[in-house]
Amino acid sequence: MPDVTVAGSASEATRNGQPQQVDVAVVGAGFAGLYLLHRLRKAGLTAVALEEAGDVGGTWYWNRYPGARCDIQTIDYSYTFDPELESAWKWSEKYATQPEILRYLGFVADRYELRRDIRFGTKVTAANWDEATERWQLATDNGAAVACRYYIMATGCLSAPKPPEIDGVKDFKGEVYFTGRWPHEEVKLAGKRVAVIGTGSSGIQAIPLIAEQAAQLTVFQRTPNFALPAHNGPPPADRMALLEGDRATYREQARWSLAGVPWPQQTAVSWQLSDAERRERFERAWAAGDLVHILTQLWADQGVDVDGNALVAELLREKIRATVMDPETAAALSPHDHPFGAKRPCLDTNYYATYNRPNVTLVNLRQEPIKEITASGITTDKRTFDIDVIVFATGFDAMTGAIMAVHPITGRGGRSLSDVWANGPQTYLGLTVAGFPNLFMITGPGSPSVLSNMAVSIEQHIDWVADRLIAMREAGFTTVEATETAQAGWARHMADCATLTLHRLANTWYTGANVPGKAWGVMPYTGGVGPYRSICNEVASRGMLGFRLTGPGVAEQCNDGEVVRLQPDVRLVLGMLEQMNLPPIESLGAEGARDFVNQFNKARPPGRPVGEVIDGTLQGAEGPLPYRLYRPATPGPHPIVVYFHGGGWVLGDEQSDDPFCRDMCRRSGMIFVSVGYRHAPEHRFPAAAEDGYAATCWIAEHAAELGGKAGPVMVAGWSAGGNIAAVTCQLARDRGGAQISGQLLVCPVTDCTFDRPSYNENATGYFLTRSLMDWFWDSYCSPAERTDPRVSPLRGKLENLPQAVVVTCEFDPLRDEGVAYAEALAAAGVPVEQLKARGHFHSSLTMVDVVITGVSGRAQMANALRRFAGLPLERRQGEEGAAPGLTAPPREIDAAAG
Ligand SMILES: Cc1cc2nc3c(=O)[nH]c(=O)nc-3n(C[C@H](O)[C@H](O)[C@H](O)COP(=O)(O)OP(=O)(O)OC[C@H]3O[C@@H](n4cnc5c(N)ncnc54)[C@H](O)[C@@H]3O)c2cc1C
Repeated sequence: MPDVTVAGSASEATRNGQPQQVDVAVVGAGFAGLYLLHRLRKAGLTAVALEEAGDVGGTWYWNRYPGARCDIQTIDYSYTFDPELESAWKWSEKYATQPEILRYLGFVADRYELRRDIRFGTKVTAANWDEATERWQLATDNGAAVACRYYIMATGCLSAPKPPEIDGVKDFKGEVYFTGRWPHEEVKLAGKRVAVIGTGSSGIQAIPLIAEQAAQLTVFQRTPNFALPAHNGPPPADRMALLEGDRATYREQARWSLAGVPWPQQTAVSWQLSDAERRERFERAWAAGDLVHILTQLWADQGVDVDGNALVAELLREKIRATVMDPETAAALSPHDHPFGAKRPCLDTNYYATYNRPNVTLVNLRQEPIKEITASGITTDKRTFDIDVIVFATGFDAMTGAIMAVHPITGRGGRSLSDVWANGPQTYLGLTVAGFPNLFMITGPGSPSVLSNMAVSIEQHIDWVADRLIAMREAGFTTVEATETAQAGWARHMADCATLTLHRLANTWYTGANVPGKAWGVMPYTGGVGPYRSICNEVASRGMLGFRLTGPGVAEQCNDGEVVRLQPDVRLVLGMLEQMNLPPIESLGAEGARDFVNQFNKARPPGRPVGEVIDGTLQGAEGPLPYRLYRPATPGPHPIVVYFHGGGWVLGDEQSDDPFCRDMCRRSGMIFVSVGYRHAPEHRFPAAAEDGYAATCWIAEHAAELGGKAGPVMVAGWSAGGNIAAVTCQLARDRGGAQISGQLLVCPVTDCTFDRPSYNENATGYFLTRSLMDWFWDSYCSPAERTDPRVSPLRGKLENLPQAVVVTCEFDPLRDEGVAYAEALAAAGVPVEQLKARGHFHSSLTMVDVVITGVSGRAQMANALRRFAGLPLERRQGEEGAAPGLTAPPREIDAAAG
């Protein structure tokens, strides 16, 4: 039941000087605050919203600068919770202006009579959790304090403008404006000498319009940004047709999409497309004038791979050069310091062309920093500009600024949020903070927020929170609080997601880098809107996983744990596989299983180009065997790696790990020869092992003919191939065969014991199941043969084997036998390095095309091979760590030297 009822209008409730008592206090009356009020009311909860501004609108109340518009198409940047509201409002433009969006939010406030529960002109200054009453006490700068059961901060991600960092602002005698706090009355710029400081989204929108009015405009730019033309006009017919064709489906697709706008997932990667095809896609995106389009529809690797990204960045720079007539200005406007999309790109109308006007000057602060602002203008270390008006378009203290501005926020045990967040925000789901019961943040740090269409994210957050409050009330709970375990798990998952994208390679407001002294870290959730929604739903469906719930007269409930332990892309892959409802592979029989795997592999994109791919035949133990050789594009001769594919001794062939072989060939700069060894059940034990040994000998003998370096070779293999590689090393040592300088064993089969914990923990649900492994073993060898070191190398003699790197994946039945092998090798005096891939499954590291978080693992494997071959190590930007000067991201693979 509600604690009390808000008596009439909010202002009446504050008259008696007592704290206003409500179930829920909402701070903010923007997009989020308005919908919150509506939902809470519908849930029968009493609520008040406290808003510093004089009216509703939030962002759209404050940002009245010339040219202010949304940059997500307005048909998407709208509420969707009420179909009647949708049909009652028609947007006039593709990207509506600030006044139109503000009118819309006013219309919404009127339609649901929201203003009566909003206290305008009221800033919340502090918040304190009172443990005795289990209520939040909010202090305000205007009128009564507020006491509430739940405190929801809808304070906005971009609502705390960043103060200028330049000396002398106060001495300036002219007019000063901030884009984020633009006056309500008209600002007259005609005939004036105007300076704009800052070229982020607001600056880029404002500059062309200011240039049209001002006598002289000087733009001070520290960091150039990518921008593309909005091509504004009426809402585009194709998008409108999609929306109106089936509104419900369109909205639902948006909710499950990556960015909150329904665009299909792009599958083609850059290297599969010709230059002409890439240019055609790019020109289409350029003409579309849509950020989500260009960020998601060019090629699948543009947001996750430095090379794929560099292609689009260069095409964008080409557009800048083609538009801006002065080459020096064009160069200064061309971003080189961040991948496209890692910093929020902008939509513009005539931005670049504005620099061709005679009254516009660009000052590149990288070359001539501002020394000071004087009474009459701005002085750089090269010149002085006389200025009448300064416009600061310097952005916001994003995501945390407005939250931290309520100071202190004191939680359980008197702990202040600013202390807890001293090293960066920590949240569970971006919604809650451990130690701060009943506090929720809408689109807080750790949620998709600014990386999404925020209208969609706001609705999702609010629905989730409101549904939880209703469920708690029904169950008799009155407090909800995230656990430390859940919060730490979320931080890890956030970091894993950030590793996946290129955001970590840029110093931006996403990472707090625009605010001096702010802790560095990727603040928004980069895993996407749809995955985020499914995680929130999972938390609820698993009994509020990671939350402690208490209430008078009910037993405390705490399902502690981490909601996502898999790497984000592994989670997606496994989710997709589950949805495909595939039959168990072992039920298909050997031929059926091979057909299935072949079809499956055909559907996957080919790997990246290498210098040369040659198919040939070599001599196996009992006859010729096919091989496929991958040669790097670099001048040879190259060291040779003999590679054995995976497939449980039954499936696969010399081509089935093609993307992995290509990737490793490129990364290591070595020849990979993938061997088509014989398969069970037609050729049972020890056929595969003997072929492995024979093939290695043949390749070592023919190294020069194959274009490789003479001398020792290396062996590598994945899964059953790892088993063959390990066995080959033992046979080569015992039989005096090929010289092997190193072995790379990726998730190898090493033993016939099936009771290690990983076999039980990961028996099902991670593609390689226990029952599939049983079938592989049965197909390859009899129970009596299984203890033979030629199939269970862990049982063999391990002294004097080549140095090794053993890779294991956390969610793999074979994990523990891999670890056991590495430990046994080390105990036998073999130099061995273990790479433990956290959050990965058996196929992660070979699924080059889809499991991008496997990149750093493969980079480390390639470096291990280079070490074996005595070559210098390679370090590619964005793969093994962050760019110099940036905080290094956590590694997906925790390498433990043996
Ligand atoms: C110029 C600009 C363009 C944008 N364009 C887009 C776009 O195209 N698409 C998109 O998805 N997003 C866009 N955004 C992001 C935008 O902020 C969100 O889309 C959305 O408006 C946020 O709504 P909100 O209610 O969460 O926060 P806000 O709209 O920021 O509202 C928060 C409110 O809380 C109030 N407040 C904060 N602290 C306190 C306090 N202590 N006491 C009382 N009141 C307080 C503020 O005054 C403010 O009114 C844009 C942002 C800017 C600045």
